[in-house]
Amino acid sequence: MKIELPCSSQSPPIGKILGIGRNYAEHADEMARDVPNEPMVFLKPASAVVRSGESVILPPQSQNVHHEVELVAVIGEKGRDIPENNALDHVGAYALGLDMTARDLQTKAKEQRHPWSVAKGFDTFAPLGPFTAAASIPDPQNLRLRLTVNGEVRQEASTEKMMFSVAELVSYCSQIFTLTPGDLLYTGTPSGVGPVQDGDVLEAAATNCASLSVTVTRPA
Ligand code: MG
Repeated sequence: MKIELPCSSQSPPIGKILGIGRNYAEHADEMARDVPNEPMVFLKPASAVVRSGESVILPPQSQNVHHEVELVAVIGEKGRDIPENNALDHVGAYALGLDMTARDLQTKAKEQRHPWSVAKGFDTFAPLGPFTAAASIPDPQNLRLRLTVNGEVRQEASTEKMMFSVAELVSYCSQIFTLTPGDLLYTGTPSGVGPVQDGDVLEAAATNCASLSVTVTRPA
């Protein structure tokens, strides 16, 4: 049974959060990394979600937290081994998201061949905007994605630049994980990632998508 998600922050509880690494070639370039030949998947905990209007809290363990603006596909229909040609039928809504990343901890984890869970998983590291019904976004590969920090544009790209499309990612991930309503797929960030500071206001926008705004704070 297909569960329709309303165009608001009211929704099924957040399930698992799947993140995709290096899904835009120019971002892989800026990180001095190769573009992977299959999607690079990691997980973030549901406890990392904050909604628009809330705050990203900089943790004491990191001195270099980066913004990564991303299109988020919200799963609306359960599936496993979903073929690519009907993968978008399993997306109930889209939202803007920020895959906040403690870059210093991530760099150290890469060097030590450790997982990214800590660098990606702090509380408040998955800001999530209001949901926009998938019916309003017939082509998720034709959205202009933009992030401003204190009003200045830092990231801007079309989702047509994704290496793996939303449909490909849903299909790929569903061969590993059963996808269930409320699961979130953060589809990767374009170039322009950078550090955030105490007091910054991050605003994400995309064509036809409800916008996302969060403030960054570092507790004294
Ligand atoms: Mg990311």
